Amino acid sequence: MTSGHSVKQALIDIVGENNLLIDELIRNYTYTKLGGKADYFVMPTSVEHVQAIVKLANQEQMPFTLLGNGSNLIVRDGGIRGIVMSLKHLNHIQHNGEVVIAQSGARIIDTSYYALDQSLSGLEFACGIPGTVGGALYMNAGAYGGEIKDCLKEAVVVDRTGEKLTLSLDELELDYRTSNIPDHGYIVIEARFQLQRKEQAAIKEVMDDLTERRESKQPLEYPSCGSVFKRPPGYFAGKLIQDSDLQGKGIGGAEVSTKHAGFIVNKANATAKDYIAVIEMVQAKVKENFDVELEREVRILGEE
Ligand code: FAD
Repeated sequence: MTSGHSVKQALIDIVGENNLLIDELIRNYTYTKLGGKADYFVMPTSVEHVQAIVKLANQEQMPFTLLGNGSNLIVRDGGIRGIVMSLKHLNHIQHNGEVVIAQSGARIIDTSYYALDQSLSGLEFACGIPGTVGGALYMNAGAYGGEIKDCLKEAVVVDRTGEKLTLSLDELELDYRTSNIPDHGYIVIEARFQLQRKEQAAIKEVMDDLTERRESKQPLEYPSCGSVFKRPPGYFAGKLIQDSDLQGKGIGGAEVSTKHAGFIVNKANATAKDYIAVIEMVQAKVKENFDVELEREVRILGEE
């Protein structure tokens, strides 16, 4: 095993000094404003960098974690050991005919507005989802009846050996808030969306309507990770939480939103420990009241 100093030097050799941060606080990169430090926070600027970092992590047997826009993640207070990689610099969006090609660090919101500019329809549903393209593929993000699965054509990924592959929609096995990306440890590099030409005003009308619905219903004034739980078959998570009288109930600085029962907000300098305790409290109460197991949509990473 190489020493910490030489891992640092090897990462600098790959991405340059400006794209490596040591002991960086992850809470600066998460929507919940939670999370301790990352040992090595690295921001590659090319696919070749990503491949080289994967190979380095393998060679050093060093844990390796991907961060998108941090909008579906709770990182524990002890932070994340090893390498944390952010693809924020790989954010280019372009199109070829009716196919929009977005790098994985681009925001899915920006991709949706790019499609609007080109009068291309199919990504309207994503105009308010605050994740990256990579994060959106990882969990087949969706809203208001649309999901990534409906418009994705194929994706370019780097696998855990550092090899670059192009995978079809079918090969990624997207389903309700899941894909096989975590099973294979794929790093999404680029997504190609098959859209359809449509009148721009009609696309805009849909996006404006969805934006208004989102802003009126969601507690966007507080840090959160969006809907914490998946929709249990036959129920709505928010309704079960509301009917359990949990809105406004909290632990430390985290509480169940009074505006949208499916959200837990970081109201006053919550720790990840507070936030996770509220999640567990909600799961226990809903199970007790309705005998329904609420499955988390949000991922929890890192050390206590
Ligand atoms: P992160 O939270 O950073 O990461 C999530 C997972 O994806 C992690 O495991 C990470 O390792 C992995 N990942 C990230 N990038 C890559 C990559 N390039 N390759 C492989 N794996 C990767 N979600 C919805 O589906 N619909 C909604 O309507 C919605 N509304 C939201 C509203 C609010 C206010 C908030 C805060 C969140 C909402 N979300 C919603 C959740 C979130 O925005 C989505 O899940 C989004 O897809 C997460 O993307 P991200 O880049 O933030 O991923």
